[in-house]
Amino acid sequence: MTKTGNAPRRLLTPTGGYLRGYDYTLNPFIGCAYGCKYCYVQALPVARFRGEPWGSYAEPKRFSAEAFVRELGRAKLRGGTRIFMSSSTDPYQPAEWRVQATRSLLLTMQSAPELVDFLFVQTRSPLVARDAEILATLRDRVLVSVTLETDQEEVRRRFTPRAPTVRARIRAVEALRAHGVPVQIAVAPILPSSPDFPQLLATLADSVAIDDWFIGDGAHGRRSRAMGVDKWYLPEEREVWYRPGQARDFAELLAEQMPRDRIFLHQQGFLPPGVRQPFDERTDPEHA
Ligand code: SF4
Repeated sequence: MTKTGNAPRRLLTPTGGYLRGYDYTLNPFIGCAYGCKYCYVQALPVARFRGEPWGSYAEPKRFSAEAFVRELGRAKLRGGTRIFMSSSTDPYQPAEWRVQATRSLLLTMQSAPELVDFLFVQTRSPLVARDAEILATLRDRVLVSVTLETDQEEVRRRFTPRAPTVRARIRAVEALRAHGVPVQIAVAPILPSSPDFPQLLATLADSVAIDDWFIGDGAHGRRSRAMGVDKWYLPEEREVWYRPGQARDFAELLAEQMPRDRIFLHQQGFLPPGVRQPFDERTDPEHA
């Protein structure tokens, strides 16, 4: 049992909606120390009612392996265990080095692989590479999605000052793939990058998910505008990099470097294999 944090009755939360194709979300922490300026979670009731600034807390949930196995067993009997980790935190918080909450969950899943239908791990932390050997044992039932919105460290610092560096994330992706773990890079939201970024992505990842401020915010850009996202851009960047259709245009650029069936746009990039559809006009809401 992890030593800190509160003890929830359940770790798995039934899901649907944006995360259709999954049965449950799994959030090993409450809060998120990365505190990205653009994080949509900070506007949700779970964060607003807390009364503390988003980014100032990340508490590991306490659990026992036996109880989690029982929970997985019940979920499996109810219909399936396709799990999205995580929807309202990053499972690889800085504190994860010490508390190993996410690692304990993975070890539990590794001990009962028949109870895990699919696990999607969404993170921006290179710490995920620490667990490469565990993740590799899930083979084709796992996909690790590493957020990398840009290849430019200055841009990364400006938009997500507390997030891990570009270089550290690239190394983590390489380490995961060296262990045979399927890895996607999530360019979401897409930020200003160098002309070499598409080539880097094509070389690095099994697949790439792309989203922008106008579809990805779920409100046709209204939420992004309300946050004042445009002010985070340099004047010379704004016109080129902050506009509707940018994800689609970047996907076209990327398609010159890698097969289209490995490129996913908007929501499709976060759905499980077998449910999601690769980038083309049918999966592009801006063509609807
Ligand atoms: S890492 Fe994810 S959950 Fe954490 S603040 Fe950033 S966007 Fe939000």
